[in-house]
Amino acid sequence: MAREKVDGKESVAGTDPCYGCGVCAAACPKRCIEMALSPEGFWVPRVDAAACVGCGQCVRLCPIHMPFAREALHKRMFRGEAAWLKDADSLRASSSGGAVGAIVAALAGEGYGFCGVRYVPERQRAEHFLAETPEAFAPARGSKYIQSLTVPAFRDILAGDGKWLVVGTPCQIAAFRRLIQTRGVEERFVLVDFACHGVPSQKLWTAFLRRAAKERDPRRVEASWRGKRRGWQDGYVLSLTEDGAPFYTGYASENEPYLRHFLRRTAQNLTCFACPFVGTHSGADIRVGDFWGERYRANDAGVSRVAAFTERGAAVWAQAAAFCGTEPLTPEEVAEAEAKEPHAEPPTWGRRTFIRLLSLPGGFRLAHGWSLVGCALRRLVRR
Ligand SMILES: Cc1cc2nc3c(=O)[nH]c(=O)nc-3n(C[C@H](O)[C@H](O)[C@H](O)COP(=O)(O)OP(=O)(O)OC[C@H]3O[C@@H](n4cnc5c(N)ncnc54)[C@H](O)[C@@H]3O)c2cc1C
Repeated sequence: MAREKVDGKESVAGTDPCYGCGVCAAACPKRCIEMALSPEGFWVPRVDAAACVGCGQCVRLCPIHMPFAREALHKRMFRGEAAWLKDADSLRASSSGGAVGAIVAALAGEGYGFCGVRYVPERQRAEHFLAETPEAFAPARGSKYIQSLTVPAFRDILAGDGKWLVVGTPCQIAAFRRLIQTRGVEERFVLVDFACHGVPSQKLWTAFLRRAAKERDPRRVEASWRGKRRGWQDGYVLSLTEDGAPFYTGYASENEPYLRHFLRRTAQNLTCFACPFVGTHSGADIRVGDFWGERYRANDAGVSRVAAFTERGAAVWAQAAAFCGTEPLTPEEVAEAEAKEPHAEPPTWGRRTFIRLLSLPGGFRLAHGWSLVGCALRRLVRR
């Protein structure tokens, strides 16, 4: 994208579409970049032009302005094994096989802190947060199908001198890797990403919540996007609770509308459709994901697929695997799993109108209805 100079100063001002990784804001020596929601509902940088000195650091770190060459990323070292936490309670609380929990357990005794994502009802959004113990990291468990705000957590871990496990989407992690490489502090971090389907617009979430919570105060509503009450195979379940009392539950297998739009990528960030971090390359040390292979078709507890991209990642995983049951995958299983991995594809039909409709009163209902009509019409045309 064209670089916009504000008052003749080079910066990431005006970057949109944007991965929303927040690395520009975390790195800015003048702290004059904050992340704000774009008109489409994704995190983008806002630069305080008066405070900006035009040093250009943000631009040099930005994965939009300085796209990653494939060779700047790590190549997958081993193509994956199946793993599931031995601890049944922790496994139940995780989205897939709990591989992240095993990595947390392995690093806990080595002085690491943990940086991951929790849902914050008061602001109705997902945010990266810092925890010093595995117990304090519990709110990170479970996938939040919404884009997370990485700053201020990324800023804080950069400023100190502690050791951190950082978990995030592949774009957040690749950008963070570039930042810690530039600062020469890579040794302090273990980075984990996951096979990522993409992140939906905050507008989709806000409009959905307004509809689902009805007369309740959405700032008191806790949300979970994954759950194993009907088992891992039917685990795309969106549930909302207020003061611990559930009032909304919907399954993707029964066409729950928010999960339907997440899985169909109706309102995903534009950058997700051309994601360069899918497949064999990553900025992380370790990548995890659901392993939906034939071998575990009857497994309802959850199975992760884990792959290492660096020597460090392989060493950490060797320790973490002690907390898990593991099985090697056959080349055929790996090929099947790779074929099912998220991949780049053209933006979903009608995406822009769908997102615009979300801003209107009754926006979720309108956008959802419009998307259903669009699907029906396209099916008719295809016949
Ligand atoms: C938006 C999104 C899309 C995904 N798409 C796929 C996919 O297509 N295929 C696939 O196999 N797996 C996908 N996953 C990953 C999968 O759902 C599990 O999160 C992953 O397998 C880890 O499971 P676990 O049981 O080890 O972790 P858990 O113990 O459940 O922990 C999940 C970890 O993910 C982090 N996290 C949660 N939400 C977010 C977020 N919004 N942004 C950044 N980090 C977050 C948390 O910090 C936590 O450490 C996706 C996850 C997310 C959040």
